[in-house]
Amino acid sequence: MQFRDLKAQYSALKPEIDAGIEAVINSSAFILGKPVAELETRLAEYVGRKHCVSCGNGTDALQLSLMIWGVGPGDAVFTSDFTYFASAGSTSILGGTPVLVDIDLNTFNMSPDALEAQIQRVLREGKLNPKAIVPVDLFGQPADYDRILPIAEKYGLKVLEDAAQGFGGYIRGKRACSFGDLSATSFFPAKPLGCYGDGGAVFTDDDEIDARLRSLRAQGKSPADKYDNREIGMNSRLDSLQAAILLPKLRAFIDYELDAVNRAADWYTARLKDRVVTPTVLPGFLSSWAQYTVLLEDKASRDAAQSRLKARGIPSMIYYPRGLHQQEAYQWMGLEDSMYPNTLEASRRCLSLPMHPYLKEEDVEMICGALLSL
Ligand SMILES: *Cc1c(COP(=O)(O)O)cnc(C)c1O
Repeated sequence: MQFRDLKAQYSALKPEIDAGIEAVINSSAFILGKPVAELETRLAEYVGRKHCVSCGNGTDALQLSLMIWGVGPGDAVFTSDFTYFASAGSTSILGGTPVLVDIDLNTFNMSPDALEAQIQRVLREGKLNPKAIVPVDLFGQPADYDRILPIAEKYGLKVLEDAAQGFGGYIRGKRACSFGDLSATSFFPAKPLGCYGDGGAVFTDDDEIDARLRSLRAQGKSPADKYDNREIGMNSRLDSLQAAILLPKLRAFIDYELDAVNRAADWYTARLKDRVVTPTVLPGFLSSWAQYTVLLEDKASRDAAQSRLKARGIPSMIYYPRGLHQQEAYQWMGLEDSMYPNTLEASRRCLSLPMHPYLKEEDVEMICGALLSL
């Protein structure tokens, strides 16, 4: 069994994907070619933003966004403690300081109360300049923007949505990648919408920011003359091959894959809800199920459950085994475990189960049987 069955997806879409790849090879326009422009238009349309600027990967999408605001030394950028490293690393690499925020144990997303407490702590200490919030749409569910956006407004902070895992989700019909000032997503193969290598995109409604992102992803070049560089940028562009692969995948994602993962999540929840803590999706929210993550009783029962699955050939993952405040790279910040009780709890008890649109009900039955040792 596969944790995320990319081969089943390829089998379903093979004629279109192969034709797209062949067309790119015949065109010899390998970087930012025609499929890239078409993909950007389709993506912007789907998520409900005016512009989509594709780039090399999700980490670069976050970094390019923070560069727009000039994030650098002395700036505080608030993000979740329980996430993939890039949510915070993209601030650090620009010289800014990530301020890590504990999560809500029900949704695994940034706790708005903990966010406000951290903003007030930074203001009280007076050493850093609060600049932006990077809420993460973890495991496919949008962060609690109903509460986070008013907090951002109250303290005058920018909001960059880290939708690397959130693509496709929504809050009352408003899609992930449309919250806050800028949104970043990833097309890493295992994400809800993945390509066959690295890829990413930034979304904005602002024409000037759109133009600046297009410049920043190509060494800060001027739009008129590519050898006239106006500022220091990156080299972070999307390959035409990846765009050609993403176009049919986006169509399948919209047509049936997003529904299919939600059906699979319902199959899991119906079988597991009385025995383990199943994921909470807030009322009016839709998850795109980048992960289906349950909480076991404690670390020992989580580890035992993972062994039982493994013995039956079922892959599972621990997303995430530690909080970012526990990462070696952030030990210099000296952050106490006691500030992150929910992250610690989640990291000890979480287990992510196989999840993808091609999962069958009998697979879910078997996985749940093994998990509950039936
Ligand atoms: C995957 C991921 C990223 C980074 O995306 P890449 O394309 O791998 O660079 C950033 N944030 C989160 C939450 C992610 O899961």
